[in-house]
Amino acid sequence: MNANGLGLHIVLTGAPGCGKGTQARLLKERIAIPHLSTGEMLRAEAQTGSELGREIKSLIDDGNLVPDEMIVKMLEKRIDQDDCKNGFILDGFPRTLPQAKVLDELLQKKGITLDAAIEIQVPDEIIMERILGRYACMKCGQGYHDRYLKPKVYGVCDNCGGTEFYRRIDDNRTTVHNRLVNYRALTYPTIPYFEQQGKLLCVDGTGSIDAVAKKIDNLLAVVREK
Ligand code: AMP
Repeated sequence: MNANGLGLHIVLTGAPGCGKGTQARLLKERIAIPHLSTGEMLRAEAQTGSELGREIKSLIDDGNLVPDEMIVKMLEKRIDQDDCKNGFILDGFPRTLPQAKVLDELLQKKGITLDAAIEIQVPDEIIMERILGRYACMKCGQGYHDRYLKPKVYGVCDNCGGTEFYRRIDDNRTTVHNRLVNYRALTYPTIPYFEQQGKLLCVDGTGSIDAVAKKIDNLLAVVREK
């Protein structure tokens, strides 16, 4: 927590499918600060069918990153909104070293200190299985998995009763492979960067969703005491 009394400003990072989104959604409920997913922002733009949206969709569908300038503008606009005044959880940003540097500048400009970058560590074999089995409720976005997290009643969302589900188009074997290659080449360099800043905290992401959430809470308890 910052000296100026504002809430937590956290980055959740790690390979695609490590559970960042799931953990960010849960954490948002526990600590009542917004969850900013750049992937969700981009998917929303892609859905509008605008020219920009079509460009974004084609990059996402192939497992490539969108250009830094595009995502930075989107994120800055979002951070400026009122609900971010008391902190935020960044999920999917920064995804490149230049983005990490821009984040530093943005936060500095606003007088905010990043409290922690939490890396959720999961081996590639597990990631592939997790991503290929995951799907979500069309109405509320609640996530499920073919093997590990089925709705209590077949075909009915536990959270909102919705009966329509979807799988992300980029959750296929070829695209996931490309996303992992891009992660190693472009996103992984942000990990030593956060480490040098003394911000990096690592968590083993291979346990159950609840177990990983508990580990994140334990890390945040230490951050709050600082
Ligand atoms: P995610 O929902 O975080 O898995 O993101 C889905 C896709 O959105 C990624 O594979 C990228 O194509 C794109 N994306 C999300 N965040 C970023 C970012 N910070 N920089 C560039 N591309 C991004």
